[in-house]
Amino acid sequence: FKASDREVWDEVQFLKTMPSRQLNDHKGDHGRGLVIGGSSEMPGAFAMTLQAALRTGAGLITGATSEKVRSAIAGQNLEATYQILPEVNGALTNKKSIDLDAYDAVAIGIGMGRDPETELLVKTILHQAECPIIIDGDGLFHIKDDLSALQGKQEPVIITPHPGEMAMLMGLSVKELMHKPFYYSRNFAMEHGVYVILKGTHTIISSPEGRQAVNTTGNPGLAKGGSGDVLTGMVLAMIMQGQSIFEGLCNGCYLHGKSADLAVSTNHTVHDLLATDVITGIPKAFKSLL
Ligand code: AMP
Ligand code: MG
Repeated sequence: FKASDREVWDEVQFLKTMPSRQLNDHKGDHGRGLVIGGSSEMPGAFAMTLQAALRTGAGLITGATSEKVRSAIAGQNLEATYQILPEVNGALTNKKSIDLDAYDAVAIGIGMGRDPETELLVKTILHQAECPIIIDGDGLFHIKDDLSALQGKQEPVIITPHPGEMAMLMGLSVKELMHKPFYYSRNFAMEHGVYVILKGTHTIISSPEGRQAVNTTGNPGLAKGGSGDVLTGMVLAMIMQGQSIFEGLCNGCYLHGKSADLAVSTNHTVHDLLATDVITGIPKAFKSLL
């Protein structure tokens, strides 16, 4: 692969690949998504992923989390439904099986914590899922010592690391990784047969076949806790809309950055922008594009 094989993901690409909606669509046509994660320490991250997925067009979103997290967030996420997971000492576990059959895509890892009990849950879900699965945040921590768990799945596996998480997965320093981010992320995607979203100022999306794109939206207002959790919800929704997985990932990244860009060009600045503002800005971002 040469540098020229990189696609630049801009408005033209977004408009060319974003599916339109049909008059007789029903909610099942836009995907049933499952988000697994949350913890007493990070209920907000989990809530933002649910809300971002709904705002980006998912037909139905279910959150699988502890009863404590559910009761804390359910009032702000009226459109979501829930599966309750058992906890051991405050950590999510796989002591009760999760119903995975009803879903078109799964995202796991958001705000879920790093307890070893939770590692079992992540590995079980990764093994059992028969639909596209996105692994984010602490989910990446739980698989770092056994990357073979990523391989050999029939359905697409997508990872969404920031540079620190990507460096951890690859056994590199962040400095080494960021010296050649296109090279390392494509290599990882092809070696493990996964899609990689390497997040950053210029987010890079790579496919298992080596297709690679760089996103053109976003600003430093996104350098704030919660931005990545919002992105996970947005790409979860996008990969259920009938585009190819690669295009869905690119469009999720594009819309996320576009929402942030519109926000800082109107009523926000890069200083005050919050992750929730990015969710609030999704309708405007859609309107400006479609
Ligand atoms: P996370 O680190 O998981 O919260 O993810 C951060 C999100 O914000 C990713 O989507 C990044 O691409 C985005 N982001 C962080 N910093 C910047 C920046 N300086 N410019 C543009 N996007 C950024
Ligand atoms: Mg994150």
